[in-house]
Parts: sequence; C-alpha cells; structure tokens
Amino acid sequence: MLMVHKFGGTSLADTQKICNAAARVVETKRQGNSVLVVVSAMDDTTDKLIKLAGEITDVPSTREMDVLLSTGEQVSAALLAMAISDFGEQAVSLTGSQVGIATDDCHGDARITRINPTRLHKELEAGHIPVVTGFQGISDTGAITTLGRGGSDTTAVALAAAVHADLCEIFTDVEGIYTTDPWMVPEARKLESISYDEMLVLASLGAGVLQPQSVKFAKKHNIKLHVRSSFTHKPGTIVQGAEPVQKGVSISGIAYDLNVANLLLYVFPNDMLIYNKIFDSLVAHGITADIITHSTTRNNINGVSIVITKDNLQKALRALQGLEEVSLNENFFYNENVAKVSIVGSGHLADSQVMGKVFQAITEVGSNVQMISTTEIWMSCIVDVDKVKDIVRIIHNKLQLGHG
Ligand code: ADP
Ligand code: ASP
Ligand code: MG
Repeated sequence: MLMVHKFGGTSLADTQKICNAAARVVETKRQGNSVLVVVSAMDDTTDKLIKLAGEITDVPSTREMDVLLSTGEQVSAALLAMAISDFGEQAVSLTGSQVGIATDDCHGDARITRINPTRLHKELEAGHIPVVTGFQGISDTGAITTLGRGGSDTTAVALAAAVHADLCEIFTDVEGIYTTDPWMVPEARKLESISYDEMLVLASLGAGVLQPQSVKFAKKHNIKLHVRSSFTHKPGTIVQGAEPVQKGVSISGIAYDLNVANLLLYVFPNDMLIYNKIFDSLVAHGITADIITHSTTRNNINGVSIVITKDNLQKALRALQGLEEVSLNENFFYNENVAKVSIVGSGHLADSQVMGKVFQAITEVGSNVQMISTTEIWMSCIVDVDKVKDIVRIIHNKLQLGHG
C-alpha cells in the first residue's frame, strides 16, 4: 500500500517524540508499504514565530510572514528525516515548492492550485521516504505561501490525492474524532467513522482536529482518512463517504470556536442604507461576516450583529471607524469575549428538543445567548467565552452524546 502519514505539532514537540514518529514511519515501511510523510512545525513553533514578528512590527508584510512561518516545518522535516535515516531507512526532507505544490498568491491563506508529483514519484520509486514540510507552497510569482492555520492537514490530503495513496493517516494528540473536544469534555465519545460532509461541518465550525480545506480535498478525491493518536496503536476514526441517511434528529457532535468577535450596530429605520456601506467597507478590508442577525427593537431602532473572526477585529474596527455614520460606543459596540458553540447533526435541529436543551444549558451556567443561527444540519450560538467549557459539557451531557 502507499500510505501518507501526517504528524502534527504536538506529535513532534521534542526530539524524543520525533524519534517516536520516525519509529512509526519505519514500522509502516517495514510492513511492506511505501510511505510519504508530511509534518507540521514542532509544538507551538508557529505561534512563537508569529509573536516574534509582532515584536518587530504591528503590520508585517504578508509575504515575509509566510517566509518566516514556513521555516517551522523545515526544522521538523529535517529532524524527522535524520531520525528515520538513523533507523536505517532512506529519508529525504523536501519543501512544498520542491514537491511541486503550486498555490494562489493569497499569503497566509493560500489555496493549492495544482501539484506536480514527479519528484515524489521518483523518491518513492527509489524506495525512499519523502518527508515533506506541510502548510506551504509556492505561488506562480515564485513566492513562498502558507495554507492557513492547521494547513499541514491539507498538504497531507492533497499529496495523498496527487500520488494516489491508499490511505492518509493523520497522527495527532487525541485518539480520533470525538463527539466534542475530548480535552474539554472527558466524557466525549470517540467515533468509529464519520462522513466527509459531517466532518466538514464540524471542522468549519471550529473542531480544529482537521483543517476544513483538507476535508474538502478528501471528499473531492475520495481519499480515506484515518485520524489517530501518535502515542498509541489504537484504531482512530475513519473519515470517508456518506453516512446512511438517518430518520429523525441525529447529532454527530459539538464544536466550539474561540476565534470569534461580535460587532453590534444600531441604526434608525430611515438610515438602513448605511448597511450597504458597512458591508462594502468590511469586504474591502478582506473581512467576511460569519453570522449576521438583524432585529428591530420596540422603539423602532434597528440592530445588526455581525460575527467575525477575532483575528480580523482590529481590521474591522479600522474599516468601520472610517465611516462617518459609525461612532464607537454611541451606535457601534464590539465584544471580543465571546465564543461560538455549534451543534452539528441532521434532521431539523431547530424543530427538535435540541434547541430547548441548549437554552437550558446556557441558563444553568448563568450565561446569555447573544445570537443564534440554525440550519437543518447545524445550530450555532454566540455565548460568553468564559462559560463556553461548561456550556459545551452540559449540552453534551443533556444530549447524551457520550452514550452512543
Ligand atoms: P495537530 O498538532 O496534531 O495538528 P491539532 O491541535 O491541530 O493537532 O488538532 C488536534 C486537537 O483538536 C485536539 O487536541 C483537540 O483539542 C482538538 N479537537 C477539537 N474538536 C475535536 C474533536 N471533535 N475530536 C477530536 N479532537 C478535537
Ligand atoms: N504549523 C502550522 C500551524 O501551526 C500548520 C499546522 O500545524 O498544520 O498552523
Ligand atoms: Mg492541526
């Protein structure tokens, strides 16, 4: 079989863990498989590099940020290749550009446009183990790009598609995909399998175990994923095809996202055209809104709430304060102490008892629902960030997700 093994940052956090990862790769190879390895940067290297740049400037060039951040994966690739060689197998570390990963030029959040797997095929045919730096590619103008946080997952799946791998194994610090983050809720239950569609919704709503883009690639190219622990040999969770359609309401899990902020604007009815300016200005600053709700209060004032990524908050403040109609703390407020909790499943979540249980949980912890948004397959609430852990745990409990 041709296998892709991807190791995340915690699985490569120190040299001992790098040697453990190497041992697993060598074990797979010696079972008669070809192995292609993709690595993340060691531990929290990427965060540290971002912090370093912040000590130099508030507005670093996005091009230079990508050059900086891509170095983290080079360190772990070289060290892992050395460790594999030490076990007596031939490994070669390669960067994104060396393995022909072409991307668009959207620095910091680039999309893979094509892959030329010639070099990888050559190495694999020679019996070598390529160890590829995840998270990075090269644009048509020759600049190093990065694929957004968690992007090594996408590198792994995209390369698995490019070389027609039989299986892509994502080695991480949990034993698989759970009904919710198992570090947050110890009663969370490991799923044996999950469909691409459900996983994509969970990942897009904050379940950081897989980058959403990687699940899209897996679905498009029908790549079977196995998410499992680097530290045990227990089977993890298979992500593949479609789940059988279930009757009634079925819940696959709860996701939470701490990287959100809420903007609140009050406008008189005859000023509603200002919405146009607001959204134009946000878009011009590269900010997309997540949840938008609009309501009219009893005294006839319109309120619009816009949820955005917290990383974009400063940009959004600049965008809105540039508008003469918007005045901070008069008709415009923001709140960064919020989080988004989402229940993912199918079968009219809003019509069911799920909604009631969510409200019960939020009331029990003494929090408030600041916004709510539902579709047939997910339901998201904006709540106080300091209550998120309790809210997720209580909803998980009330919906009996730990019981299977
Ligand atoms: P890696 O460094 O291996 O890429 P990540 O931190 O990106 O690891 O992803 C693994 C983390 O995802 C887990 O440690 C866990 O905190 C988080 N996580 C969030 N939701 C889930 C979930 N439903 N199932 C498993 N892990 C989850
Ligand atoms: N090192 C990158 C990050 O921390 C990519 C990854 O880990 O997948 O986001
Ligand atoms: Mg990750």
